[in-house]
Amino acid sequence: MQNISVNQYLRDHIRTVPDWPAPGIQFRDITPLLQDAKVFRVLIDAFVHRYMSADRRPDVVAGLDARGFIIGAVVAYELNVGFVPIRKKGKLPFTTVEETYELEYGSATVELHTDAVKPGQRVLLIDDLIATGGTMMAGRRLLERQGAVVTEGAAIVDLPELGGSAKLRESGLSLFTLVDFAGH
Ligand code: AMP
Repeated sequence: MQNISVNQYLRDHIRTVPDWPAPGIQFRDITPLLQDAKVFRVLIDAFVHRYMSADRRPDVVAGLDARGFIIGAVVAYELNVGFVPIRKKGKLPFTTVEETYELEYGSATVELHTDAVKPGQRVLLIDDLIATGGTMMAGRRLLERQGAVVTEGAAIVDLPELGGSAKLRESGLSLFTLVDFAGH
């Protein structure tokens, strides 16, 4: 990591797979960030350093299915706070609330256990990537319907040209992302 920024170092370890899972989609694959122990540590620390300070520290971390679980659970553990999963429909066994939304490719429904967060809890919402912003918006709505306060949305990658991050910010959500990719 000599003489390059954390952001550039992370960007250098994201793989772009063209035309996957559908023609015209540039898939930003984060698995190379996870498989190298040194890179994984830099990635997690980039989030932990931001959220360990008293003013930004959440009460709980919520992760979006499925890559948001990988990052979110480790960040929660490091911050010594709990982790709650927001899952694709049909996976959570207890009583749930659900939200349906449009994806960059297709549509989806996500669910949250009704007892996953308590009213007034400050929640950090984590995913790997923001494209149209639909997934993060749906997750935020689920948490807010349970009375929680989403203090920030965080992701490794932002695809600003798809407009999701701008839309989320316009709706009043603070966002933190580490790497921007133009072009889609
Ligand atoms: P969106 O709801 O449109 O913001 O899409 C974000 C979700 O879809 C995230 O959970 C991503 O993992 C996934 N996703 C969407 N587009 C891409 C892409 N181009 N590369 C990798 N993941 C993507």
